[in-house]
Amino acid sequence: MSSSPTDRPPQLRPDELQQWRAAIAEANRYNILCHCKTCGYEWVESAAGAPCRCGSEKVEYISCWQFPDG
Ligand SMILES: [Zn+2]
Repeated sequence: MSSSPTDRPPQLRPDELQQWRAAIAEANRYNILCHCKTCGYEWVESAAGAPCRCGSEKVEYISCWQFPDG
């Protein structure tokens, strides 16, 4: 009766796949969620290792794209 359209998922070319991986690396590098265990302050830093604004170095660093599900 009616012709069904072909639903094929878009395939990534090798160069596109490389760009996708680079984007993941960029996200990991420039989106580090910092959580101070002393005062509870949270902020986003471009790189892990920075102390909190309160002066505490007890900071937890979490990559934003590595948040667990749920
Ligand atoms: Zn703090």
